[in-house]
Amino acid sequence: MSEELKVWRERFRRPLLFAARKDFALLPKVKDLEATLRKLLSEAPETLEEGLRSLLEEKLGGLEGLPLEEKKARISELLALTEDLREAPSEDFPPYPDPEDYERLREELRTPVQYVKGVGPKLAARLATRGIHTVEDLLYFLPRAYEDRRRIIPIRELRAGQRAVVQGEVVLSGPVQFKRRRVYEALISDGTGVLALKWFHFREGLLKEIFRPGTRVIVSGEVSRFGGRFEIVHPEIENPEDPALDLHVGRILPVYPAIEGVSPKVLRRIVREAVEGYAPYLASFIPPEILRRRGLLPLSEALKRLHFPPEDADLEALNRERSVYHRSLAFDEFFFLELALGLRRSRLARAPGIAFRTEGRLLRDFLAKLPFRLTRAQERALKEILRDMAKPYPMNRLLQGDVGCGKTVVAFLAALTAIENGYQVALMAPTEILAEQHYTGFRELCGLAGVEAALLTGGLPPSRKREVKQALARGHLQMIIGTHALFQEDVEFKRLGLVIIDEQHRFGVLQRAALREKARGVSPDTLVMTATPIPRTLALTLYGDLEVSLIDEMPAGRKPVKTLLFQARERAKAYALVREEIRKGHRAYVVLPLIEESEKLDLLSATEWAEKLQKEVFPDLRVGLLHGRLSPLEKERVMRAFKRGDLDILVSTTVIEVGVDVPEATVMVIEHAERFGLSQLHQLRGRVGRSERQSYCLLIAHEVSPGSEAWRRLRVLTETTDGFRIAEEDLRIRGPGEFLGTRQHGYLEFRRADMIRDYDVLLAAREEAFQLLEEDPDLSRPEHRILRKILAERWAERLHLSEVA
Ligand code: ADP
Ligand code: MG
Repeated sequence: MSEELKVWRERFRRPLLFAARKDFALLPKVKDLEATLRKLLSEAPETLEEGLRSLLEEKLGGLEGLPLEEKKARISELLALTEDLREAPSEDFPPYPDPEDYERLREELRTPVQYVKGVGPKLAARLATRGIHTVEDLLYFLPRAYEDRRRIIPIRELRAGQRAVVQGEVVLSGPVQFKRRRVYEALISDGTGVLALKWFHFREGLLKEIFRPGTRVIVSGEVSRFGGRFEIVHPEIENPEDPALDLHVGRILPVYPAIEGVSPKVLRRIVREAVEGYAPYLASFIPPEILRRRGLLPLSEALKRLHFPPEDADLEALNRERSVYHRSLAFDEFFFLELALGLRRSRLARAPGIAFRTEGRLLRDFLAKLPFRLTRAQERALKEILRDMAKPYPMNRLLQGDVGCGKTVVAFLAALTAIENGYQVALMAPTEILAEQHYTGFRELCGLAGVEAALLTGGLPPSRKREVKQALARGHLQMIIGTHALFQEDVEFKRLGLVIIDEQHRFGVLQRAALREKARGVSPDTLVMTATPIPRTLALTLYGDLEVSLIDEMPAGRKPVKTLLFQARERAKAYALVREEIRKGHRAYVVLPLIEESEKLDLLSATEWAEKLQKEVFPDLRVGLLHGRLSPLEKERVMRAFKRGDLDILVSTTVIEVGVDVPEATVMVIEHAERFGLSQLHQLRGRVGRSERQSYCLLIAHEVSPGSEAWRRLRVLTETTDGFRIAEEDLRIRGPGEFLGTRQHGYLEFRRADMIRDYDVLLAAREEAFQLLEEDPDLSRPEHRILRKILAERWAERLHLSEVA
């Protein structure tokens, strides 16, 4: 970043940082923030990249008038966007490659790494242990850090802790006895001072040869201070006569992840060979005007520079992986993903679908029978859903809202509409337990509406499964609730019209498509429900092809759950509160991460804990136990007993996380709270606070002391019940794996891009991709055909884009 831009950035960020201080405590006092920032933006240097400038402008729009929470979010966003400023690149672009050459270029990149100059079979085998088989693999083997070797440092200027390159003449060298060890030592001098070099493991003959007094040497490594003198232990040694010397000193040096049996020098040499010979073949065909607009570089240039940054590169940005080269690479990955999502969205929106009649009696009658009125947010979501359902195109909608906001009822109303039109409805949950819980919940609603529903999971007896499948194929069943078992081949629908997918926080992008294929000919409508507020960041990538309905209001009379955080030794206080609640006729959950002790020794187990609570803490109360290893029947029995009030306390593993609805439960104790993700805790907490009664969530942290990072993280829950804020926090701390689950993670695997770190790049990629599709919705223009092809290669399989290819 240029100095001028850096200075401007500081000025621009100052009011923002001020407003954000102490968790925005001062924000209400800040005056004219928007006007101030607008003025600053108008003073930004020319080199500020155009796309970023307009994005900032957009984010400033109406800032002053926003409600407090949104204003906070906007300020955080502005801060994120200005952390690194994009600059218009100065480099020249290589010529845009000829799309006709695409296959040939790909072929070149698939060249076995052994063909790179200097790589023999032995070296190739070592590289293979790191997954490097082709030239392309080697090009994508990126430095993990960069070392500043641009300058040879005079010995007098050395500082302890610094990594430095020093050049000097050997004064003295030989083995010395140090305490009871033999150490090899060499002293070199450059006229400004003397530096000691030390080896604890060494081949004496070799060192003697290299460090003959009077020889000129170049060494590098981490400088330390010992006995009043600077020294480098086990330095890297350069031969001043080495023809490849320029690779190792006098530049910003790439530091690669270690590969056993391959020295850093050899690695740098072969990477250079690969870069020189093959980088030009790395063409991504993103239109150059897009890259220019965003201040980014073509893929081949970016990769080249990542391996061998130019001398004036921003070292600090390189080491944070936020250099223009890193961002260019990330853009390349995001752009095609967003293009794929955009394409799928527009395709789906134009496929033939079912135009449901939505003015049905069934719906009206049912609403009249409900013991409550829909909230305004529920009504709005329902209206959006029904509007989609009425259209002759398939609906693709995400119904998002915090736990307990009443999504289930809304989804059921959509189901009724489909059923009244003579269609069948499938509800798919990610696990059997969830499917069972939905089934239990829906059965009540179905009873009220006079609809036939059944459960289909892998765990059912075969005879029952057969029965259900037959009823489904013949059209006797109007609604089926199940797991992925629903899209097995032998499951047939008579007339599938609506698919409801409850994803909780597991994302089933692939399943969505598979289930759609069950409705031969027409595409059914799809409604995806999610209780985890998905950070905007992730929603953009995961649900880039869905419309979103948000229920952002709780049913009237709900009091926010009071959340308190305890250390394990203060547990008695928490359990006293449990007793107090039960005395009032309420019920309590106690949640633990594990079932049995054997799984991990230092954690409390649910089984043991239930016993202990019953015997020692609450001998006069009724304690029940629920965990994932119980049979469905047993689980049902325990849940029923708790629901009816035959149990006061339910000790459980996280199987109760979602779907359970016991309004009388007003307190939840979570042991080992530090073991859970914040979103998961928030999810668990949603099991209480489901009535007008005040509810409590008591988090017990083990071996986490107040003030520590883990403690601060848990504190977030005591401060807010805003699921979105919690989710963002979680994403920041734990990364996307927390949201994606292990199984789905692969779907969003990038070579380098990181959705959180590169959020600004993601936004830019999305804007550009969608803009392109607006101009050419099918990518059918000749110059875009190549994009479609690349898209198919990279994403078709992962995103079920078969229609694209
Ligand atoms: P979600 O699926 O969003 O977690 P649910 O649909 O399970 O939420 O609703 C939570 C509880 O609130 C249920 O007991 C449900 O019957 C009740 N409920 C839903 N909508 C309303 C409403 N508008 N007014 C009062 N209670 C409601
Ligand atoms: Mg629900």
